[in-house]
Amino acid sequence: MENIAANLKKVLATLPDGVRLVAVSKFHPVEELREAYDAGQRIFGESHVQELQRKVTEMPSDVQWHFIGHLQTNKVKYLAPYVTMIHAVDSLKLLQEIDRQAAKHDRVIDVLLELHIAEEATKYGFSPDDCRELLASGVWRELQHVRICGLMMMATYTDDTAQIRREMATAQQLFDEFKTNFFADEDSFKERSWGMSHDYPIAIETGATFVRIGTTIFGERTY
Ligand SMILES: *Cc1c(COP(=O)(O)O)cnc(C)c1O
Repeated sequence: MENIAANLKKVLATLPDGVRLVAVSKFHPVEELREAYDAGQRIFGESHVQELQRKVTEMPSDVQWHFIGHLQTNKVKYLAPYVTMIHAVDSLKLLQEIDRQAAKHDRVIDVLLELHIAEEATKYGFSPDDCRELLASGVWRELQHVRICGLMMMATYTDDTAQIRREMATAQQLFDEFKTNFFADEDSFKERSWGMSHDYPIAIETGATFVRIGTTIFGERTY
């Protein structure tokens, strides 16, 4: 049995001011989320819509749900009433659908744009050029019900810490570039979501403001 409250405390003790924890609870039962909740955690990350739908009804209403997985446009409508932040927006089409669904609930949904920097071919996300192009197009400025709050990425899954550091540093550089060129007047563009259980110490050193940590808190997932 994991001691979730103790694990959580240990992780939190390592996070400097300005870095917030998304407790990634996917595939873990609600009882385990509740242990983290009772220990004070409020931001939870999930990556499957159906699973999240169920958990939302079973957890207290002040939980802030962050959707961190790949999101299909046809599922946005399920999240729109309550989701706090969507981390992995990887197309204009998805951004527009979030805007459309958020409007129906008279909400503004915070989102991050997912960058593809890692070497693995399977990862989702915008290439730096595609992301730059989207931002330069300005179409996102017309969307009144989404707010682009920053960038998200996953580094290559590797033991090569130099490579992880390189990829995260690239993401941080892109953040600085986009901030200067497109969001200089928008205080809300300030978030960098990178770092998971195995690489979050590097993420902290390379400018992360959100770390997304599952295994270190809840133990191994059984799929
Ligand atoms: C599952 C997941 C995490 C957490 O991974 P751990 O290795 O368990 O910390 C972080 N980010 C995303 C996008 C995930 O899908």
